[in-house]
Amino acid sequence: MSSKIEGVRAREVLDSRGNPTVEAEAWTKNSVARAMVPSGASTGVHEALELRDKDARFMGKGVAKAVSNVNKTIAKKIVGMDCTEQDAVDGFMIELDGTENKSRLGANAILSVSMAVSRLAAIEEGVPLYRHIGRLSKNKKFLLPVPSMNVLNGGVHAGNKLDIQEYMILPAGAKSFREALEISAEVYQNLKTVIKEKYGKDAINVGDEGGFAPPLSRPEEPLDLIMAAIEKAGHEKKVKLGVDAAASEFFEQDKNGRKAAKGNYVLEGVELTPGRLMERYGQMLDSYPIVSLEDAFSQDDWPAWSSFTGRYGGRVQVVGDDLLVTNVKRIEKALKEKACNTLLLKINQIGSITESIAAARLSMESGWNVMVSHRSGETEDPYIADLAVGLGAGELKAGAPCRSERTAKYNQLLRIEEELGNKAVYARMF
Ligand code: PEP
Ligand code: MG
Repeated sequence: MSSKIEGVRAREVLDSRGNPTVEAEAWTKNSVARAMVPSGASTGVHEALELRDKDARFMGKGVAKAVSNVNKTIAKKIVGMDCTEQDAVDGFMIELDGTENKSRLGANAILSVSMAVSRLAAIEEGVPLYRHIGRLSKNKKFLLPVPSMNVLNGGVHAGNKLDIQEYMILPAGAKSFREALEISAEVYQNLKTVIKEKYGKDAINVGDEGGFAPPLSRPEEPLDLIMAAIEKAGHEKKVKLGVDAAASEFFEQDKNGRKAAKGNYVLEGVELTPGRLMERYGQMLDSYPIVSLEDAFSQDDWPAWSSFTGRYGGRVQVVGDDLLVTNVKRIEKALKEKACNTLLLKINQIGSITESIAAARLSMESGWNVMVSHRSGETEDPYIADLAVGLGAGELKAGAPCRSERTAKYNQLLRIEEELGNKAVYARMF
């Protein structure tokens, strides 16, 4: 049997923020595959545990323990398993870990092997990774996703005063992914000009996800700048907007340390009840072509989520990131509470490919949309591009069309689109 795993090995490498992360390699007699794990900054409290050494190396951020867990604990036991049996490999690692949040071996350790093994299986089967993921998820409808490109960064991803974390463009009116990328790059370059003209050349530095991070604080100002850039580029008819508030980060306390009463938010230094925050979002939805709003409320503010979805869920994607953490149990609760209508799928929030696919399938079968997502700390691994196509998700959020850890994903989609030829379908989402 050539798909028998002969070995697994991990190492510590650096991510796009210059912090350590786990890279794993898995091999059979004839093939070898490699994968790298991303890392978040605005992480949800319910995410699976990213194991960090918390010692003197790398300011405590080393992942030597996670690497050792792969090399000394997982590797020995996985050798001999069939790499095409992803369920069995992941199930085995989950059992070996034995905790609810993968805190013994580390979600970063388990995910690195899970990703590498799935890529190895694709090589063994002689198919591209997205086709193998299609098989694993029982999806035959490959879709080139509409990208959500974070062109203006705030929150914990930028050194400015913006509380809202991500302002995105979605080139939903393109006819192909190639055209979508071209449109986005043109809007991005025009945005640079718009910012430079208004705030000077010191304002065009970029944040963690490659979007500009000018010295703004009013939450609506980025939307005005982006609308001006879209118009300047002549793409008004083809581009919609998306926002990730990442509101867990300004719940009861903002990034500048300003505190609010229990249950309230701090936006632009002003304390808001969930109801007032909802009104503010409502005004934004009325004034701009926003089709997607993520983490509008904090991760456990269920009543606010449900009331917002009841009121606006018919006209906008209500995306759960910190709320759902790619976890089937939390998705089930959100379905029951009608708390949102779209899953943000981040593989390292849950820590294995099998569980990520289960989260996507449950969401799709329940009538939700699925947006596959990067993390703010990324790597050059384009895995999530194949994942989005293979799942038929129709949406991928991977940052600005700038910085190689972001463009790695978009450039991979160009290759996949080319490979699919006249069978390539650009998703119609909005
Ligand atoms: C997000 O919040 O959607 C995100 C990509 O940021 P992070 O990876 O920091 O959680
Ligand atoms: Mg988010």
